[in-house]
Amino acid sequence: MAETSSNPSAVAGLTLVVPAKDEVVRLPPTLEAASRVLPGLALASEIVVVDDGSRDGTAALAARFAGAVPIRVVRLERNRGKGAAVAAGIAAARHPFVAFTDADCPYDLSALRPMLEALAGRTADVAIGARDLVESGVSRGYGPLRRLSGKMLSGLTRAVIGLPMRDSQCGLKAFRTETARSLFAVRTIDGFGFDFELLAAALANGLVVERFPVSLSHDDDSRVDVLRDGLAMFRQLWLVRAGLRRGDYRLPVARQAADGAVERAGNGAAPVGGVAARPRSETASAAVANECPLCGSSERRPRARRGSFHMVECDECGLWRLDPLPTRAALERFYRDEYYANGAPSETGYGDYAAQADDLRATFAERLDLVAESRGRLLDVGGGFGFLADAAAATGRFPECWVVETSESAAARVAPGHRRVVGWFPDVDLPEAYFDLASLQDSFEHLPDPRATLARLHGVLRPGGRLLVATPNTASLIARLQRGAWVSLKFPEHVLLWSPRPMRRALREAGFEIERIVPAGQWVRLDFLAHRVFSGRPRAGAAAVRALRAIGAGGVRAWVPSGSIAVVAARPGDGRSRDREADGGEPS
Ligand SMILES: [Zn+2]
Repeated sequence: MAETSSNPSAVAGLTLVVPAKDEVVRLPPTLEAASRVLPGLALASEIVVVDDGSRDGTAALAARFAGAVPIRVVRLERNRGKGAAVAAGIAAARHPFVAFTDADCPYDLSALRPMLEALAGRTADVAIGARDLVESGVSRGYGPLRRLSGKMLSGLTRAVIGLPMRDSQCGLKAFRTETARSLFAVRTIDGFGFDFELLAAALANGLVVERFPVSLSHDDDSRVDVLRDGLAMFRQLWLVRAGLRRGDYRLPVARQAADGAVERAGNGAAPVGGVAARPRSETASAAVANECPLCGSSERRPRARRGSFHMVECDECGLWRLDPLPTRAALERFYRDEYYANGAPSETGYGDYAAQADDLRATFAERLDLVAESRGRLLDVGGGFGFLADAAAATGRFPECWVVETSESAAARVAPGHRRVVGWFPDVDLPEAYFDLASLQDSFEHLPDPRATLARLHGVLRPGGRLLVATPNTASLIARLQRGAWVSLKFPEHVLLWSPRPMRRALREAGFEIERIVPAGQWVRLDFLAHRVFSGRPRAGAAAVRALRAIGAGGVRAWVPSGSIAVVAARPGDGRSRDREADGGEPS
């Protein structure tokens, strides 16, 4: 069934699902178009026609159809509705990518190419056609009644279930097959409303839904019409709303990485389903789990909530986590350029990271004093603009500094004397058993898979090499005082929040010996501090800043406890035990 393609951007395999009820007239042109286009999109492809209880010979016609792409027919004995038909087709899909379209598909299927690229590159988890995009130029083809009903539906999906996109119903959507299967597993609607239910479920689990332009290849005389089917859709919207509130759409561990879907033509990658070929990215991207990524327990208690984000504490090990954990695609999208300079630093990222350069370098210099005996090769993970590497180089102890940073624009600002590695830890290429010190300053809380992170850190450190981690402490005094307004509750970038207890467990399980865990301070300007102290009360914060500036003290620098812990641990080696952490009280 291999249809070869010479296109280098083609994906390994694509299944196109076509639900059809009494479609002997409209189906053949769709199958012909798909047979022409699919071989250019994927190395191997197939069409699965789902006959949704037709009485006009649709199944027989589809089975007889002979084109360049193999066709299989799935028969539903009685008419179940489009949602049920598409679900049956997705269950039957044999390829790592799956798309569905209508039997009368009015869209040019080459629109699938950028959709598949985004899915394969993991910048999107769900790719949907959107007729309202300017590039689509589709809505002009509709009469006033269709346009009005479309507007009504988009207003309703926004108001009732919070969908941000205007066009939830476009009949062209694509997924990695494993993602599609986990989403359809929580589907409850058999009829036309399954489209918005699917999108609501995807968003509720932190999946990235990306919209793509579509163009009409012929008139769209879709059989769904919100005016005619309005009452049913309205009822379905409220069902979805109730389901969202109950948490019915939480996915079980969605093993999106395990679908082996990322292989593209030409990279000599593993066969479809070749999980073993990509062990690192598998662990890092297997998100959307409701289990604790440290101990595996699903027992949890709520700790904080903002908007649709929930932070919970694991009953078993004490680690706090976003629930559910966002996918890797969602996280990578989040760290694009705006992260290091945006207007709302208490909400996300850094207001102006560069302006804090001196304070940050001074802070990192203090923290490096915790590992005063370390010298040699330094690795800083999540190094931003390279300020820790600057401070380390300035001590004279670290002639070789490497900075790993996921944001390309941030990495571009790392001083040229340091080695830069752009990518997502732990997937980046680094030498094994090489570094004398690995540092994570305010980055460990951003990484969703601590076991993978620590295993990789253990691997890149030479025996005897040390680890220096500074991360917010849920047991700190400031966390306890500020509670829901704690500045370190940054959604969704802080996916895990630590305290000494889970930290010790994670380090020991990864084979590290713990030297010490102490409160971490930081150098800040008083006006910055005022913002933090009045976190959650912006007017009080602004008043305090004005008062400080009035007396000329806004720019005065102070060393303050940051509500974080600094952790020093070592990869055992050179014969002697290093586990000499002082017993005593918990730092706060
Ligand atoms: Zn746990």
